[in-house]
Amino acid sequence: MECGRWPYAGAPGCRRCLALVDRIIEDGYQAFLKELDLEDDVAVAEMIVEEIKGYDWRVVDGAFERLTCGACGSRRGRGPKDCPPCELDEGFRYSAREVDRPGVTPRNEHAIRVGAAVLRNGHRHSPRALLSWQIGFPLVLSGYLPSTTEAQAVRARINKGATYEDLAAVHVPDLTGWPTTA
Ligand SMILES: [Zn+2]
Repeated sequence: MECGRWPYAGAPGCRRCLALVDRIIEDGYQAFLKELDLEDDVAVAEMIVEEIKGYDWRVVDGAFERLTCGACGSRRGRGPKDCPPCELDEGFRYSAREVDRPGVTPRNEHAIRVGAAVLRNGHRHSPRALLSWQIGFPLVLSGYLPSTTEAQAVRARINKGATYEDLAAVHVPDLTGWPTTA
């Protein structure tokens, strides 16, 4: 089933959009393994999460994806909001590195990272936060970074009941040079 939204904007409910978001992380992880000539092995993932700071966020998120939370059984950091180990992992992984891609607005990578976390884990966030990233994520992925004022304006509209369709009609991502296609 496809959602008819901008690419990525239907995650996590639309499987195709969710797969696109997941691929951002998985591609980063696979590139890392290839670069260092490492096997895709649980031991490698464990080594990475022991020392998060030295690695790119995509690599850290990819490593967590290969490990299971001992308390709730989810992929680490992706369990319900009330699982304490997942809550800790969710915080720890933010110490990973984030390097902006060439030619984007500075801090764009941070927005991609937060947006990917929200869109992959809708159950850990409010419906309004989810909607703001469904609108914002295709924009930041195309290199744009909304100003604080713009982001606040979107949030204000959401609080007043604006839907995805209302917002997507105004906030149109630049699909030229789209970094990841279906
Ligand atoms: Zn958990």
